[in-house]
Amino acid sequence: MSKKIFPLNADKLEKIIEKYPTPFHIYDEKAIRANMRRLFKAFSWAPGFREYYAVKAAPNPRLLQILAEEGAGADCSSLPELILSEKSGIIGEKIMLTSNDTPADEFQKAIALGAIINLDDISHIAYLEKNAGLPEIVSFRYNPGPVLEGNDIIGKPEEAKYGLTREQIFEAYTIMKEKGIKRFGLHTMVISNELSENAFSATAEMMFTLAVELKEKLGISMEFINLGGGIGIPYKPEDNEVNLEIMGENIKKIYEKIMLPAGLNKTEIAFESGRAITGPYGYLVSTVLHEKKTYKDYIGLDASMANLMRPGMYGAYHHIVVAGKENEQPVNTYDVTGSLCENCDKFAVDRKLPEIAIGDKVIIFDTGAHGHSMGFNYNGKLRSAELLLKEDGSIELIRRAETIDDYFATLGGFAGSIMQE
Ligand SMILES: *Cc1c(COP(=O)(O)O)cnc(C)c1O
Repeated sequence: MSKKIFPLNADKLEKIIEKYPTPFHIYDEKAIRANMRRLFKAFSWAPGFREYYAVKAAPNPRLLQILAEEGAGADCSSLPELILSEKSGIIGEKIMLTSNDTPADEFQKAIALGAIINLDDISHIAYLEKNAGLPEIVSFRYNPGPVLEGNDIIGKPEEAKYGLTREQIFEAYTIMKEKGIKRFGLHTMVISNELSENAFSATAEMMFTLAVELKEKLGISMEFINLGGGIGIPYKPEDNEVNLEIMGENIKKIYEKIMLPAGLNKTEIAFESGRAITGPYGYLVSTVLHEKKTYKDYIGLDASMANLMRPGMYGAYHHIVVAGKENEQPVNTYDVTGSLCENCDKFAVDRKLPEIAIGDKVIIFDTGAHGHSMGFNYNGKLRSAELLLKEDGSIELIRRAETIDDYFATLGGFAGSIMQE
C-alpha cells in the first residue's frame, strides 16, 4: 500500500491559489531530491551508476537542474530536449540521446554537446556518419523480439518499433569496431510502468548475458549497460511500490553471477527513468466549476485532458482527493471530467469521493511525470502553469500558464493579423 498524501494543507493551498489560479501542476522538490538519492543509494554497490532522467517525463529546466544537482543526467529524444538539457547545465556524457526515427539536426546537436548517442537502428550508423560524423562512444538499443513479455503500454517487443534485433546487434557493433570506435554501451527498454522488481531482474539478466556474448564474440567490453526506464509507480493506493533497494540487491546478484566471471567488472549500470523519479511528486490542482446530474453524476473541473492525458488516453487511474475533505467518507460516485468535446476527457469514472461542492479544490495525484508534458492545445485549451514547492515551503513559478497570445503566436495570415490589430 502506498500512502497518498498531498504535501500542503487546504489553507496553504488556498493561499497559493490566490496568487496562482488553477489549474496548475505543483512539484515537491524535497520529495524529488530524497527519491533521487534513494535510487543512487540502492545502486551504490555498482561500479558506477547513472540515471539519465527521461526529459520527456517533465521537461522543465528547473526540475532538470534539481535532478542534476542530485547527480542525474538527461535522456533526450528531440532537439528541444537536448537544448533544454544544455540550458539546465547537463552536457557531455551526462546526456544520452535515445531517440528513434532521428533527424539529422538532432544527431548534430548531440555530437556538438558530446552526448552519448544511442542508435535505434543499424541503418542509423551510415546516416549518423554522413550527417554528423561518428562520436567517440556508441550505444545501440536492443530489441529482444519475442522473448520477453512486455506490458500494455510498450506491448510485445517484437511489435515495438524500437531497437535492433539480436542479429543486427552483433553486426552493428562489428561495423562500429571496424570504423575504429573503441568505447561502447548497450541499451534496452522493454518494460513500462512495471511494479514488479522481478521484471528488472529479468531485463538485467538478458542484458548482462548479451554483454558477455558481445565480449566473447567481438572482444568489446561495454562501458555501460542502460536498462532503460519503466520503473512503475503506485498510481492506486493499493498498488505495491517498487522497492528500489530490493531491485538494486537483485541486480547486484545477477551482476556478480554473470558479469564478474566474464571479467566485466567495470561496466556501469544506467537507468533512464522518468516516471519513478518525479511521477509521485507532482500534483494537478484544479477547481470544481460544475456539477451535472444526468444519467450519471458529473463533476466538471477547470482542468482537462489537455493538462493530463493519461486517464483519457490509457484509461489510467489517477488518485483524486478533495482538499480539506481528506478524512470525509466517500459517499458519492462521480465521473470527474474536463471540458474537451471528447467523451474520454475524464479524470475518473465512477469514482467514490466525498460530497463535492462547486469551488472545491480537487487534487489529482501522480502527475509529476508524463503529466504536463503530454499536454496539448486541442479545443483551444491552454496548458497550465507549473509550480515548485521548494524545500523551505515557498512556491516558485517554474512555468507560467499559456495565454491566448501564446495560442495565436504560431498563426500567420488572417489570424495573425487579427491578433496584431
Ligand atoms: C519514455 C522513455 C523512458 C522513461 O520511461 P519512464 O516510464 O518514465 O521511466 C526512458 N527511455 C526511453 C527510451 C523512453 O522512451
